[in-house]
Amino acid sequence: MEPIVLSTTFAQDGPGAHKGYDYSRAGNPTRGALERCIASLEGATDGIAFGSGCAATTAVLLMLKSGDHVLVGDDVYGGTFRIFDKVLAQFGLEASFIDMSNPARVDEAMRPNTRLVWLETPSNPMLKVFDIAAIAAVTAARGVPLAVDNTFATPMLQRPLALGATLVVHSTTKYLNGHSDVVGGAVLTSDAAIAERLRFLQKSVGGVPSPFDCYLVLRGLKTLAIRMKRHVETARIVVDHLARHPQVTRVHYPGLKSHPGHDVAARQMSAPGGMISFELNGALEQAAAFLRALRIFACAESLGGVESLAEHPAIMTHASLPPEARRALGIGDGLIRLSVGLEDPADLVADMARGFDEAR
Ligand SMILES: *Cc1c(COP(=O)(O)O)cnc(C)c1O
Repeated sequence: MEPIVLSTTFAQDGPGAHKGYDYSRAGNPTRGALERCIASLEGATDGIAFGSGCAATTAVLLMLKSGDHVLVGDDVYGGTFRIFDKVLAQFGLEASFIDMSNPARVDEAMRPNTRLVWLETPSNPMLKVFDIAAIAAVTAARGVPLAVDNTFATPMLQRPLALGATLVVHSTTKYLNGHSDVVGGAVLTSDAAIAERLRFLQKSVGGVPSPFDCYLVLRGLKTLAIRMKRHVETARIVVDHLARHPQVTRVHYPGLKSHPGHDVAARQMSAPGGMISFELNGALEQAAAFLRALRIFACAESLGGVESLAEHPAIMTHASLPPEARRALGIGDGLIRLSVGLEDPADLVADMARGFDEAR
């Protein structure tokens, strides 16, 4: 197993004659092993690891400069929206958010100063699906790089670089680590110039992960394939239950034929994943009662761990979105998001029955 190298500095043979590593912010053997591992899973030549998904996102955006514009898929992770809206806007980075379900709209929304297109698919929390290959064709024609946040799908279910994306971003906090005990992030690319710039930013801005956290993510990755398989199998059982339930008005899951992105998902993903959202018939009060009644699903933010989580996007993960933006996306008071874990599916269905009873 990969050793955890905690050293911050590395003895040199003589002044300036280091043996591969000099200082751990610039490079660390455990981190290097993690970066190579995730890069190989995504089919990238380079991986650059960070101390969180948000640090990874910020590093990508720090490649841009004041006056540049980024075209962003709507319905992105709340923290990603906040980086654009509350942090980098102050430095003159412009961003606009659009529904990318129709790739022609991406072309129309590009501006002369658009330097990056950013999307998340399936998206959070509406599980919208965007056609990576079609959007990559649009961005490539204009010479603009495409970044895909692949946190929800993982490289087990979807490989954006093979579909034409330039960069893949991960919150390793989620499925890649998979055990809800590390906050981490990574960027993967096969573009040598971008990789070099990101390595420079990793060292210069310094949002690096600890060697121990890198070790834990490496350990989590050993079971990624088998975990994803089980997440998908159980999600299907939960979705079938929800779709038949009289207290559910709508289920958002790319594996459902009724989902608007079903065909694209079937093309670009090997399976629809372990994330589900659904609309409970009722108001905030009913949704809160549902969540309070659960005993196996923990009421918590985050996703992708071995344990099942349930949350209320409007109050919890997406509270940083302005109310009108939430409404436009369809994030209502009855919307509940589930991260389906690895428990016995029958226990999860029984747990939801408790929730529905209390929400009546
Ligand atoms: C959690 C998450 C992030 C941010 O990652 P952190 O590790 O929490 O900083 C970005 N994108 C998606 C899709 C996420 O779920």
